Amino acid sequence: MDLDDTPEQAAFRAQARGWLEEHSSEAPVLTGPGALQDEAEILAARRAWQGKLAEAGLAGVTWPKEYGGQGLGPIEQVLSNQEIGRAKVPGILDAIGVGMLGPTIIAHGSEEQKTRYLGAMLHGDEVWCQLFSEPAAGSDLAAVQTRARLQDDGSWRLTGQKVWTTNAQFASYGLLLARTDADVPKHKGLTMFVVPMDAEGVTIRGLRQISGEAEFNEVFFDDVSVGADAVVGGVGNGWGTALTTLMFERVTIGLGGEGLGYNSTRFAGAIAADPDARRNPEVRHQLGEIASELLAVRFTGYRTLTALQKGQIPGPEAGLAKVTIVSGAIKAGDLIADVVGPDALLEDSEWAYMISFLPGLKSAGGTEEILRNTIGERVLGLPPEPRLDKGIPFSELRSKEGAPA
Ligand SMILES: Cc1cc2nc3c(=O)[nH]c(=O)nc-3n(C[C@H](O)[C@H](O)[C@H](O)COP(=O)(O)OP(=O)(O)OC[C@H]3O[C@@H](n4cnc5c(N)ncnc54)[C@H](O)[C@@H]3O)c2cc1C
Repeated sequence: MDLDDTPEQAAFRAQARGWLEEHSSEAPVLTGPGALQDEAEILAARRAWQGKLAEAGLAGVTWPKEYGGQGLGPIEQVLSNQEIGRAKVPGILDAIGVGMLGPTIIAHGSEEQKTRYLGAMLHGDEVWCQLFSEPAAGSDLAAVQTRARLQDDGSWRLTGQKVWTTNAQFASYGLLLARTDADVPKHKGLTMFVVPMDAEGVTIRGLRQISGEAEFNEVFFDDVSVGADAVVGGVGNGWGTALTTLMFERVTIGLGGEGLGYNSTRFAGAIAADPDARRNPEVRHQLGEIASELLAVRFTGYRTLTALQKGQIPGPEAGLAKVTIVSGAIKAGDLIADVVGPDALLEDSEWAYMISFLPGLKSAGGTEEILRNTIGERVLGLPPEPRLDKGIPFSELRSKEGAPA
């Protein structure tokens, strides 16, 4: 395998680097001296920066040109991300929209939906959120209980609760998975909807995390009305539509690990700065293990990229990258906490956010146990888990609380 840029990729990289060198002074400063403090100001600056990255062709690189993208392959998107990382400027604000929900609309949406929503999403004018998880439907996502009821005029009424909805507090729209038919088995009666987050009957409540931030929310839908044109991908096809989003989610997390700062050079830097730690064979051994795992993820990521570049859909093995990145980063967080000591967790430490976010990352985008089950069944060919609800209408299953769902 030739891992060097092709002449076309080298030209794309040079163009991205040139633009970033010229414009990085316009990027919002989010950490260190001179960092923006006011949340509204940070949000406005990040939206504007996303717009500039999109205009420069560095965001939504794989999106078709007619919706504002570059019509290029995933490798060019990775090159763009690498150059953004190299320039030490923030990436886009709406990674969930541009990385996962936009591609879902591109794959399953109507022409009207694509024209109406994609441009504003890519430029950060309208941020989106993913309204999938519920209190009793996370790993078992097909168990969602939020109901959508068809009205005589063709519109729908939504009632239910979502949870862990990242960015809902400032999103303009959400992509929501709801149950439209409870009399068929659970994967079959689902439909995907676009919901305006300022619609009457939508209530958003922030959830505060261990890091002190409140990046995700509970969202309640109390008889919220949406039109027939809010359905994405057809009534009853919600599971297939959701799988597209989840595939992009796994790829985004798996390929984006280094962009999230889980980078062995950075970890090595912290250890090298401590004279005792850098001479300690045990610390060096642990760092070596972490570095080799993260390197293995990088090379597995190239295989995923190759599949994407050839127009194939990455298989369940893409989940392996997510499991390995998170376990490597958790080991690195523990090691840094040992070396740096309690100061690593102080608010202004460069490590505090990373360390406190890691337990959450274990669940986001599929938990370790679920991804291991999938790898066992679909990659290694091990016997599947018993599925007692197979073929049974959703209305006959019992929910976690013991009542009929
Ligand atoms: C940082 C973060 C951001 C998120 N953002 C969003 C978002 O924007 N939108 C959204 O819709 N959701 C979001 N989520 C939710 C995320 O998708 C869920 O947390 C995830 O699907 C797991 O569901 P759960 O939390 O309900 O855990 P559960 O499914 O209740 O699992 C609890 C535990 O049981 C284990 N378990 C469950 N089933 C099995 C099984 N069959 N075999 C073995 N073990 C099992 C799990 O591995 C886990 O350890 C986010 C989560 C996090 C942490």
